[in-house]
Amino acid sequence: MIHRAHDYRDLIRRWRIVARQAGCRLTQFAQAGDFKLYYLKTRALPAKSGVYISAGIHGDEPATTEGLITWAEQHARDLAKLPILLFPCLNPWGLRLNIRLDQAGIDLNRSFDRDDVTVTKALRKVIEGRRFTVALHLHEDYDAQGVYLYEIEGELPYWGDSLLNAARGIIPIDPRTKIDTGRARSGVIRRRLDARHYALLGGLPEAVYLHRHHSRHAITFETPSEYALDQRVAAHVAVIDAAVTRTIAIKDNY
Ligand SMILES: [Zn+2]
Repeated sequence: MIHRAHDYRDLIRRWRIVARQAGCRLTQFAQAGDFKLYYLKTRALPAKSGVYISAGIHGDEPATTEGLITWAEQHARDLAKLPILLFPCLNPWGLRLNIRLDQAGIDLNRSFDRDDVTVTKALRKVIEGRRFTVALHLHEDYDAQGVYLYEIEGELPYWGDSLLNAARGIIPIDPRTKIDTGRARSGVIRRRLDARHYALLGGLPEAVYLHRHHSRHAITFETPSEYALDQRVAAHVAVIDAAVTRTIAIKDNY
């Protein structure tokens, strides 16, 4: 398969086409080194519900950015009607060089409590005052043996199992019972918002910040980066689709 998954400029070219087809705007919200960062927000997004999705916060996880643009391309015609806020790539420098960290050597996914990190500070400003039904954070893991996800403990019913089920036909669920430092049940690691645990990580992750301030559900989805790219992309597309479908099926948004 020929791909340009690490080509940020090509990625944004595709996003511009999607935005044009959908009648939506791609809005710049930050600059990181030579790269401009964007989000796409539809007019259908209410202030207090809807879907937040971000990709590419770690640059060595290209199926995330590729998965999000592929999903958007597939839905370009009806995208404007969906209640969504999308961040196509939070770490373009890392994506370009296939590196987890940003150009300053910072793990952006541990910097949501920092005011000296431009990208995460600007992102927090974009979502100020908003609430989402679900925040979906797309990741990859080279250690993974299949797909899995983290779900922060909170509002019932949990969404983790149903979202993961959407991907299991494409890549099997990671069979491990211990993933990272957490206990996994059928690929779902459910975590409490435990300040001490997150302090040990060395900084605040995006999902924890979103859940604490903005979102009823916070899901971090992971694909195994040793699988073929097209399979990993398809798995991300399936989970994004499941999250959006489930959100718009809720009629009593708040
Ligand atoms: Zn990651």
